Amino acid sequence: EAKEMGGDTVSLFTHALRERDEQRARLREALAAALEAEELELHLQPQRNLENGSLAGVEALLRWNSPRLGRWVAPAEILSAAAELGLVGRLDRQVLRRAVQLLAGWPGPPPCLAINISVSTLHDQRFAEEVRDALHAARVAPGRLEIEIPEDLAVRDLPAVHQTLTALREVGVTLALDDFGSGHSGLPHVVRLPVQRLKLDRSIVAQLPEDAKAMAVLRATMALARGMGIEVVGEGVETEAQATSLHEAGCHVIQGWLIARPMPVEAFLASLPPPLLLPAPAQTTRVGAG
Ligand code: C2E
Ligand code: MG
Ligand code: MG
Ligand code: MG
Repeated sequence: EAKEMGGDTVSLFTHALRERDEQRARLREALAAALEAEELELHLQPQRNLENGSLAGVEALLRWNSPRLGRWVAPAEILSAAAELGLVGRLDRQVLRRAVQLLAGWPGPPPCLAINISVSTLHDQRFAEEVRDALHAARVAPGRLEIEIPEDLAVRDLPAVHQTLTALREVGVTLALDDFGSGHSGLPHVVRLPVQRLKLDRSIVAQLPEDAKAMAVLRATMALARGMGIEVVGEGVETEAQATSLHEAGCHVIQGWLIARPMPVEAFLASLPPPLLLPAPAQTTRVGAG
């Protein structure tokens, strides 16, 4: 009997594994079709300057509500499926195209719009040229586009990526190091990256002001940024107390639910105060549409 139970356990286990593999396969299949159909969207989240209350930038975040899967799929899940399919480059390029298109069609003076780009895409020597061409074709000033680079990039410190970053700076786009303080990037790496902004990770911000170590990371980050002449953006700010700690430490730009959640493009444009509240052109929120 014991042997039989053991057998059942094993078959339950293999069944669960098979189920998981099938789910992943369905996700990959749905994603491949969604990329083909340009079904993925960007939602927008504002950054606020605490000194004067102005809009200090906007981050575009990937959103996918799959009709086929019947659910929203989180960016991390999208990215790992895209990696399994070898389609990260394609995904990043759809995001780039859509962001440039949003900037080109912005009602009023466009803000600086940030997109997230994967390390593998930054390996590609053609990427900077593609960015330049996309901006040029849409007549968008390069300074309006910001590229957020993943924090783990700072660790890898790869020559090919450095070349792309330098080329992107030559194109004139803004570069931001995302998730700073989330774990890996040592200061020696960071100071060599040609970035204009550091985004202080939510895991640090969440512990302000009670946690002494988080406060120390904040102070050290501000000192580093001052030394490099770059701006710090506090990420994932949810409370007034967190905003106050950041402001007092000299971090004047924040992003997070305290200000606003990421929103569909139409809702974002409608939330802008006058004089930016001009009639928005009819547009879809599809990544890379048109
Ligand atoms: P990220 O670039 O650091 O983006 C910030 C994440 O924090 C977003 O999660 C955002 O929705 C969330 N967030 C913003 N404010 C708050 C807050 O106050 N509290 C909390 N708890 N969360 C907040 P999201 O949209 O799930 O994206 C997760 C990550 O996926 C992003 O982290 C980014 O690394 C990646 N990602 C998102 N969109 C793209 C994309 O278009 N391309 C690539 N390559 N990666 C993307
Ligand atoms: Mg980001
Ligand atoms: Mg981040
Ligand atoms: Mg992140």
